Amino acid sequence: MLVIGTVGLLYLKWQSDPVPAERRMARMDVAFLLALLLTSVTGLLLLALRETPDAAHEADDPTSTLGWTEPTKSVTGVAEKRAEARMKGYVGEACPECANFTLVRNGTCLKCETCGATTGCS
Ligand SMILES: [Zn+2]
Repeated sequence: MLVIGTVGLLYLKWQSDPVPAERRMARMDVAFLLALLLTSVTGLLLLALRETPDAAHEADDPTSTLGWTEPTKSVTGVAEKRAEARMKGYVGEACPECANFTLVRNGTCLKCETCGATTGCS
C-alpha cells in the first residue's frame, strides 16, 4: 500500500511541477519520496524473503545443512538406479508397489518384474 501511495504522490509531483520558483522544493519532495519508496520497497522485499519457508527453516533448524545435502544425494542415487535399470533392459521407472527399478514395457503399460504389479492397466 505504501509503495502504491508513494508512486502516486511521485506521479502527482511530476504532473504539477510547472512553477520554476517551486522547482527546488519539488525536487526535494521528489528526493524524499524516492527515499521513502526505496525504504518501503526494501522493507517489503525483506518481509517477503523472511516469509519464505526455506529461510525460516534454515533459521530455526540447526540440522538444515543435512537437509540441504541429503535430497541432492538421493536425486543422484535415483538417477544412477535409473541408468542402471535402463542398461539391464528395464524402462528405468520405479515400481509404485515395491519401489524397485524393475519395470518392463508390457504392451501399452509397464509391468514390474519383482512383484508383478502393472501401471495404467491391470
Ligand atoms: Zn514392483
